[in-house]
Amino acid sequence: MSKNSRPRFEPLYYSNNEEYPDILCPVCAHKVIVVEDGEALVSQCPHLVFVRPDGPCVYEYESDDFSKRRAAAPDDVPEYCSDYLDFLVAIGYDEKLFVYEVAYSGMGCGPFTTTDLIGFISEG
Ligand SMILES: [Zn+2]
Repeated sequence: MSKNSRPRFEPLYYSNNEEYPDILCPVCAHKVIVVEDGEALVSQCPHLVFVRPDGPCVYEYESDDFSKRRAAAPDDVPEYCSDYLDFLVAIGYDEKLFVYEVAYSGMGCGPFTTTDLIGFISEG
């Protein structure tokens, strides 16, 4: 498999005195994360594949196709403990998958960084 056929990751950064950045679908420009009362809510479009916040191993959103692929994932490719790109390749995604890595740096009980992953597919 050539390197070009792997999913593409695009980093985005914001800091704690900024609003959550507008995450627009690269296909239809739908805004998929809507912040209401300080809480980020998912507003899906047909191209949204998954929304995986940092921290707990829980997806805020996953498409039917994505959850089927996850269920059929090979056991020897851990989903949460290794390079996430390797996992996406192992479940059959290629360059049609586009992933925003939304990195947030802030100050809580100490400096911290979290990274949310938001995936889109450019065709079904
Ligand atoms: Zn879309």
